[in-house]
Amino acid sequence: MHLYGTQSINELGHLTIGGVDTVDLAAQYGTPLFVYDIALFRERAQAFQKTFENEQVGYQVAYASKAFSGIAIYQVASQEGLSLDVVSGGELFTAIQSGFPRAKIHFHGNNKSQEEIDMAFDEQIGCIVVDNFYEIELLKKTAEQRKQKMNILLRVTPGIEAHTHDYITTGQEDSKFGFDLGNGQADAAFKETFEHGYLNLIGLHCHIGSQIFDTAAFQMASEKLLLKMAAWRNDFAYTCTVLNLGGGFGIRYTEEDVPLEPAVYVQDMIRTVKAASSQVQFPVPEIWIEPGRSLIGDAGTTLYTIGSMKEVPGTRRYAAVDGGMSDNIRPALYGAKYSSLIANRAEEQASELYTIAGKCCESGDKLIEEAQLPEVRAGDILAVFCTGAYGYSMASNYNRITRPAVVFVESGQHQLVIRRESFEDLVKNEIGYLQEGTRR
Ligand SMILES: *Cc1c(COP(=O)(O)O)cnc(C)c1O
Repeated sequence: MHLYGTQSINELGHLTIGGVDTVDLAAQYGTPLFVYDIALFRERAQAFQKTFENEQVGYQVAYASKAFSGIAIYQVASQEGLSLDVVSGGELFTAIQSGFPRAKIHFHGNNKSQEEIDMAFDEQIGCIVVDNFYEIELLKKTAEQRKQKMNILLRVTPGIEAHTHDYITTGQEDSKFGFDLGNGQADAAFKETFEHGYLNLIGLHCHIGSQIFDTAAFQMASEKLLLKMAAWRNDFAYTCTVLNLGGGFGIRYTEEDVPLEPAVYVQDMIRTVKAASSQVQFPVPEIWIEPGRSLIGDAGTTLYTIGSMKEVPGTRRYAAVDGGMSDNIRPALYGAKYSSLIANRAEEQASELYTIAGKCCESGDKLIEEAQLPEVRAGDILAVFCTGAYGYSMASNYNRITRPAVVFVESGQHQLVIRRESFEDLVKNEIGYLQEGTRR
């Protein structure tokens, strides 16, 4: 059994997180319940940032907040000195509501609307990461009409696609994101922006994948981007000062995953960038990174209550929980694997094999295909680990299931930060439709 962060087992044999008994949390707030270990989030945030401090390079660590967005986590991110990636007007609005420092907000997305761009200018955020030529036109028009400056980075696709333990390199990348580095698109985007009076081109961005467990792909990407920046410096006497290498640092969902420490990814990146810079006599740029999953993923645990059980003789035993793909679509969406524990009997021998089923009307709604657990009983509290990233943020109301509550735990204290949705919430935007003649 692997415990994360501040998790422990108390004298009652219950799983605790942040010094708080999870069985008590389930009783107080109900299930399904997302429990976030805030000390672990802070530790990760500091680990990334301290490494840059120690290596004395300019940096920004931006929390890629699509992994888990909300006012409370934005407040914690701000307390830890992180920057913030947002990808929509909704995330930007939430960040502003949380009081996040505007200058540290970065706006991403491959199809930003005029309204979203106006919002970014209104709020005078730190930068916009530009994805495509249409966006360049919108930005130019907006900035010129407003006579307002905006920092921009160009998102490029370097032809490296990283997945978990391996990566593919291609001359061109078939991606919906960014300007291709190999076929002239990135150069064209540079020429369209670098001399603009209001758009201030500060650097290049790439994001090469997710759940990446080694450093090779980051090395290749950083070298490619740096060479391009050096070429532009030579050809146009224009120096980009920011190299944003995105996120994607892997985490441990199950024993199959063996991630590196945050510091190791960062140290290696810095070493590569410094070496490549000196080779082409380019001033070492600021290095920006955008961890999402690796900041928040294993800080989150979902608590469920076990209900019905079903045995398919000779095949498998199902145990069903009171949530499922409505609060965690990752297993159904891409076969994601998780580990789990019976929180109220955390020390019991995991002698049995179960498939953990959700309660949604969809055969594929299975949270864990093979969960090693003690004999489970209705009413047990199942803790599914590592659900902090892309769980709540991808939650839906499929089957009109209400979204769970979210609780932060830290130093023996617990605090509700997002209420459980109510049935009233489900219909609050509904207007109904009455037949002609019966309308009042
Ligand atoms: C999703 C995303 C990230 C974060 O990815 P993780 O795998 O959660 O670290 C960072 N940057 C960009 C541009 C992204 O789209």
